[in-house]
Amino acid sequence: MSGIRIQAVTKRFGATQVLRGVSLDVAAGEFVALVGPSGCGKSTLMRIVAGIEQPDSGRIMIGAGDVTHRRPGERDVAMVFQSYALYPHLTVAENIRVPLALRRLNAWQRLPLLGGLLRGTADAQYLMDQDVRRAAEALGLRALLDRRPAQLSGGQRQRVALARAIVRRPKAFLMDEPLSNLDASLRVQTRREIVEIHRQAGAATLYVTHDQSEALTMADRVAVMQGGELLQVATPEAIYADPQDLRVATFIGSPR
Ligand code: ADP
Ligand code: MG
Repeated sequence: MSGIRIQAVTKRFGATQVLRGVSLDVAAGEFVALVGPSGCGKSTLMRIVAGIEQPDSGRIMIGAGDVTHRRPGERDVAMVFQSYALYPHLTVAENIRVPLALRRLNAWQRLPLLGGLLRGTADAQYLMDQDVRRAAEALGLRALLDRRPAQLSGGQRQRVALARAIVRRPKAFLMDEPLSNLDASLRVQTRREIVEIHRQAGAATLYVTHDQSEALTMADRVAVMQGGELLQVATPEAIYADPQDLRVATFIGSPR
C-alpha cells in the first residue's frame, strides 16, 4: 500500500485514554477529512502520524514503510497546522525554500541555521528556485516572493505555510484545521486550492476540520471520531444519508 496506514493506535496522557485503537487507511490520491468534537483526539492522532508524538501501541506506515519509530524529518509527510510559524526575518521565497535547504544538510550542518543555509551552489540554488516558484505559483504568491511575513495578510501567510508544505512534493499531507484562522470568503477559496494541490501531488491527505461543510465538500471520505475512537469512515454521501450511529447523526447534523 502507498499512502498513510494507521494501525490500532492507542495513546494515553496520564489517566486519560485519548486514543483507543484507531485504524485508518488513506490511499495515495485520497483525501480523508477527520471530524469530531473538540478534545476527541484528532490533533493527537495527527501528531502521532507526523512523528511529533509516539503512540503507546500501534503502527504508522507511510508509503511502503513502517515509520512508527522514525523522526518527523524522516517521514515523507508535510504538515500544515492552524498555528503555523513563518520566519519573520526571511522573505516569502526564503520561507518556502527552508525545507529544501534543510533536506540537503545533515544534523550538524543545520545548527548554524538560516544564514548560509539558504545559499548553496549555483546549480542547487537554481533547482530550488524552480521548485519555490512552482509552489508559489500554485498558491498565487508569485508577486509576493520578496516580501516578509509582517507585510502579508493572515490569509497570505497561511498560503506561504501551504507553499512550504508542498515544495518538497511529499507522499502525504497532514493538515490540522489549516483554515480556521481565515475569514469566511478566503476559507472557501483556499479550500479549492488545497484540494487542487492534493490532486496535483497525487498525495494521501488527512485533513482535520471542525467545519462539517468543509469535510463534506472537500473529502473523498469522512472519518468521524469521538472519545478516541472512529465511529464511521465513509463517503460524505454515505455519512450524511446513512449514519451508522446516533452520535454520527448528531454530529453531522443529518435528519435521522
Ligand atoms: P482535538 O484535536 O480533537 O480537539 P486533542 O487531540 O488535542 O483533541 O486532545 C485530546 C485530549 O488529549 C484532550 O483531552 C487533551 O486535553 C488531551 N491532551 C492532548 N495533548 C496532551 C498532552 N500533551 N498532555 C496531556 N493531555 C493532552
Ligand atoms: Mg485539535
